Amino acid sequence: MAGLEDLYREIILDHYRSPRNRGELAVPPAHKVEGFNPLCGDEVVLYLELDPDSDTVTDIKIGGQGCSISQASTSMMSAAIKGKPAAEVRQLIRAFKALMSIHESKLEGEGDGSDLAAELAGVRLGDLEALQGVVKFPVRIKCATLAWNALQQGLEDIETADA
Ligand code: ZN
Repeated sequence: MAGLEDLYREIILDHYRSPRNRGELAVPPAHKVEGFNPLCGDEVVLYLELDPDSDTVTDIKIGGQGCSISQASTSMMSAAIKGKPAAEVRQLIRAFKALMSIHESKLEGEGDGSDLAAELAGVRLGDLEALQGVVKFPVRIKCATLAWNALQQGLEDIETADA
C-alpha cells in the first residue's frame, strides 16, 4: 500500500514542518510537564490547561526539539486532545500506546497483540494512525510515544494536585 504510506509520510512531515499549538501558557493555571528520550535526544515540553469544572483540556501548548517523529507526534497529540474531556484523552493515550505496542509485541514474538487490540476498539485515532509506520523501526517507537507519556504524567500530576 504505497499510496497510504505516502499519505502518512505527508501527514507526519506536515506536522513536523508546521507544528500545531506551539508556544507556552502561564503556569499556573497551566501545568508544565517535560519529557526526554535519551535514545534519540528528543525533548518535549507540554503546557496543559484543564478546566476543573468540566474536566476538559481547554488548552495545550507544546515546545521542545528533536527528530521529525517526536515533533510530529507531539504536534498531532496536541491537535487530537485540545478541547477533549480528560476521560477521552486518557482513552486516546491508551489506544495510541496500544497501537505502538501491538507491533512491538509482534516484533518480539509475544503473541498477536489481541489484548491490546481490545484497547483500540471503538477509539478513532484519525491522523494519529499515520504514526504506526514507525513501528517498523523499533528504536523510533520511543520517539513517537514520548509526548504521550509526558501527557499521561501531566494528567496524573494535575489529579494529584487537585486531590
Ligand atoms: Zn527521536
